[in-house]
Amino acid sequence: EEGPRENARSVSLRIIRGRGEGLAMYLILLGPPGVGKGTQGVLLADATGWERVVTGDLLRTAKDAGTPLGTQAQQYMTAGNLVPDHLIIKMVEEKLSTLSAGTGVIFDGFPRTEAQASAFAMMLEALGRTIDTVVVLEADDEVLSKRISGRRSCPSCGAVYNTVLAPPKKDGVCDVDGTPLFHRADDHADTVQNRLNVYRRETEPLIEYYDGSKAVVHRVPSQEGPDEVQSKVREALGVGE
Ligand code: AMP
Repeated sequence: EEGPRENARSVSLRIIRGRGEGLAMYLILLGPPGVGKGTQGVLLADATGWERVVTGDLLRTAKDAGTPLGTQAQQYMTAGNLVPDHLIIKMVEEKLSTLSAGTGVIFDGFPRTEAQASAFAMMLEALGRTIDTVVVLEADDEVLSKRISGRRSCPSCGAVYNTVLAPPKKDGVCDVDGTPLFHRADDHADTVQNRLNVYRRETEPLIEYYDGSKAVVHRVPSQEGPDEVQSKVREALGVGE
């Protein structure tokens, strides 16, 4: 018990020292679809200046651009299944090579399988890096379904809204940059249950995987509103207010 706490303290110290000068923390946001990884990732990135690596967004961009990766990924995404590991691993590898050395990074939506997690560990090792922290966001399936069915996203900045729980100021338009919001095809009810099942089967076991690693794992309840959850995330990390 003392070990992880000591770890958390030294991570917090590094965050405070590193703030604004390109911090080196690598963090994974883990949790089921609809739990708020995107929302919390944007808020945390705003507060820290860390970069976000969001595999779902990278895939959607590839799909819209009609690249070979996008074309290959499309059928899996539409059905709410996982895109094959080798495609994801290659995509993340390429993305990692574009990140500047000093920056902190928030990984959202990756890794999602044990194969991805172990490939990730090796990639990071080659870069002399490691996962410092895992934030596990948790909520009941009922809450998740509600959030997902009302979810609308900004294709430009990644901001996430909910028609009922967190509507934009102007209907259908992003508060941040005025871009029209979209409703993801895989957010429709028939696909959502499959995505939840896939999460429980393939991705949830990663919590144990990281519990057994050097990373500090924080479990944060994510049933409340975005700001309350963000406060808890920052409190857990020891960053900001
Ligand atoms: P997300 O926006 O994170 O919910 O991702 C949307 C979809 O992209 C998922 O349902 C998967 O089909 C695919 N996807 C995103 N990240 C991964 C990943 N790490 N491994 C496999 N598939 C992924």
